[in-house]
Amino acid sequence: MIDFIIVGQGLAANVLAHHFHQNSIRFKMIGNSKLSNCSNVAAGIWNPIVFKRLTKSWMADELISELNIFYSACEKTLNTSLITQRQIIKPFVEDQEKNLWLKKSQQNLGAFLNPFINDSHHLDFKNCYLNDYYGLVENCGNLDLVAFIKKSDEFFKHDIISQTFDYSNLKMEEDGIIFKTIKAKHIIFCEGHLVKHNPFFNWIPLKPAKGEIITIQTNELNFKNKILNKNGFIMDVADQTYKVGATYAWDDSTDQPTNKGLLELKEKLKKIIGCNYQLINHQAGVRPSSADRRPIIGQHPKYKNLYVFNGLGTKGVMLAPYFGKNFVNFCLNKQALHPDINVNRFYDSHFA
Ligand SMILES: Cc1cc2nc3c(=O)[nH]c(=O)nc-3n(C[C@H](O)[C@H](O)[C@H](O)COP(=O)(O)OP(=O)(O)OC[C@H]3O[C@@H](n4cnc5c(N)ncnc54)[C@H](O)[C@@H]3O)c2cc1C
Repeated sequence: MIDFIIVGQGLAANVLAHHFHQNSIRFKMIGNSKLSNCSNVAAGIWNPIVFKRLTKSWMADELISELNIFYSACEKTLNTSLITQRQIIKPFVEDQEKNLWLKKSQQNLGAFLNPFINDSHHLDFKNCYLNDYYGLVENCGNLDLVAFIKKSDEFFKHDIISQTFDYSNLKMEEDGIIFKTIKAKHIIFCEGHLVKHNPFFNWIPLKPAKGEIITIQTNELNFKNKILNKNGFIMDVADQTYKVGATYAWDDSTDQPTNKGLLELKEKLKKIIGCNYQLINHQAGVRPSSADRRPIIGQHPKYKNLYVFNGLGTKGVMLAPYFGKNFVNFCLNKQALHPDINVNRFYDSHFA
């Protein structure tokens, strides 16, 4: 009997697989990566700042510290480069923003807001509209999610079963579960927004948000290892190649890119850069956002061998390593799950 079956093949499933591997927890992953595009289209950015209010993103210190440790360990295991440390360029719209930035950079946001106010007229960034002044956010970066999933799939190939999980084949036993011929102590579901088809966890309150993103090529920009954020973002991903994102829509849960999304991204881009470019890709996916914007992780209220790991929303890259570790410590050492992410916060509303 193995310890866990992981259902899914996106970011959540693969982060858990690495945590399980590091802790000698025996698992099989059952996934069909073609059912959802989300992890394969994400820009993979982590950003500690909520720009709207110029505040720290929830648990930013702990999450960023853990993600750096975790993805660096994965780089060693997979023998490949996965993360890029970057700064975010944030143009100021008005003087008030500049003053608030300065104040907060000297207070509790000192680790993230660079106190130096940059004059855009020095033209460090060719063809970018940066307003008069801009600030730089430190301790940001991105994970190459496509490489992370591809390399992880290769590394765990003997433990991956590529198929759509058929819930009707799951049987509960006294000491675990049986799926077809596999006996496991536990099963954990990481299906992203497709959890709506899971008869055991379809009650978790997700508010999925479709997102579209484009990839462009141009030789008229010159920034490297930066993310320019101006009501949308542009980030260099390869030589003369940039990702531009992203849109949000709550009325469409397909992975199909739309004309409306493309127009919106082109409009955003027009306000960020002023140069020619070639569109080389346009993709869409559905983010598994939760109603209260926190992950949803933990045990089924009735079937104690069933678990869920979901609700990563717009910040999966930041959230998954820390809460994957929290979940493993919960399983191995009976450490409590963080109350804000524990699925038990929804038990009363669904199982009263
Ligand atoms: C345009 C866009 C940009 C984004 N940018 C960022 C970003 O910059 N930074 C960031 O942190 N996050 C970003 N995100 C969000 C990020 O993609 C998600 O937080 C994360 O990928 C969610 O991962 P997941 O594994 O929970 O879900 P998913 O990626 O949806 O993975 C679920 C997996 O389960 C599989 N599956 C589902 N049901 C079954 C079944 N019955 N049988 C077998 N397999 C099944 C699916 O095929 C899929 O492989 C972005 C998302 C989008 C759409």
